[in-house]
Amino acid sequence: MNDPFNPYPIPQHKSWWVIDSTKMQEFQDCPRQYMFKRLFGWAPIAENLHLVAGSAFHDGMEYLLVNGIRIESLKGAIDITLKTYYEKLTKIVNEERPIPSEFMIKLLESISLAGDESAVTPEGLYIASLKYYQTYYKSYKDKVNRPKSPGDLILVYIHYIITHAKDSETREVIHTEVYGTVPIDERRVMHFRIDAILKDELGLFVQEHKTLSQISNKWNNKWPTKIQIGTYLHALHMLFPHAEIKGLEINGMCLYMDEVLGGDKPHGKQVVVRVPISKSKELMAAWLWTVRHWYDLIEWNMEQFKDASPNDDILACFPMNGESCDKYFGCMFQPYCNLWSNPLKHALEPPPGFKIDWWSPADKEETAKTVVHLEKENK
Ligand code: SF4
Repeated sequence: MNDPFNPYPIPQHKSWWVIDSTKMQEFQDCPRQYMFKRLFGWAPIAENLHLVAGSAFHDGMEYLLVNGIRIESLKGAIDITLKTYYEKLTKIVNEERPIPSEFMIKLLESISLAGDESAVTPEGLYIASLKYYQTYYKSYKDKVNRPKSPGDLILVYIHYIITHAKDSETREVIHTEVYGTVPIDERRVMHFRIDAILKDELGLFVQEHKTLSQISNKWNNKWPTKIQIGTYLHALHMLFPHAEIKGLEINGMCLYMDEVLGGDKPHGKQVVVRVPISKSKELMAAWLWTVRHWYDLIEWNMEQFKDASPNDDILACFPMNGESCDKYFGCMFQPYCNLWSNPLKHALEPPPGFKIDWWSPADKEETAKTVVHLEKENK
């Protein structure tokens, strides 16, 4: 590069300097993958159904939290879920997609046509909805997206209302959708976005919504050591007095395929699973050391990146972690790691099927309900 203001071998992007738990966890997984995604900005052209469904689900859950976990809030939660889902999934769903209110009207019509008085209770609504979807999914192509389809999300809301109707009496909503930055030392911050801060008789806690496809101890047990959990707790401790804090709750919703809806797995209805987490002062100190260590490693690699050149035989930074290549559905960069000793030669041209997408945690500031910059507030 001949740019005197840019010491890096490729043009810089402002998102490079915004680090949150997601990006740090990606770096932990594989520094080379981090480089492809966050420095080259490569992202698949195809929309990610799991991210779309997760985003729609978060919007619906936020509506339920703010408006009360009760059947009267269902229509609003469904409307906002479908709106987000179909706005984001423009390239996958087809012309058959219903507009949110039409979808809801059809659902309510089917319930009233059923003439079933029990449908006025949450349990009745759930059963009536199942009947409705059984018919609906016969013709609707969103079936291919199950169990991350709008119908599954709606069934989860109904099930959630049945299971946690008492939440509105026992828990107070303090904040939803909190975006911010929290210091980890004199110079560096972690960006975060918290789904909700709630309060019950034992104190304040963060609630983090997650979807899962199978209940397991492995899923339940993986949270306490995650960077993300410590980040949220660290922020909570900087927002409120320590004595008032209870901890954090993973609010998990299992989206099973349901036999009644034509799924191919013999599971029953949706399951809500909550995992409470609290950390002692010593464990929070261990989290802080860990985060600083991983941040140091990111910065060390960024320094090495300055000396890298497309003409080098190999790229001597952001090392490959071969143990992560087969995780989940397999790493999308595998063909390139198998071929290229120095990916810098190809950095400016995303491969077929990829686009440039400078996703940044800071983008979340625009849509957050509350914004806090705790490094400034605690000076
Ligand atoms: S293929 Fe493996 S080594 Fe390459 S980026 Fe993906 S996880 Fe890392």
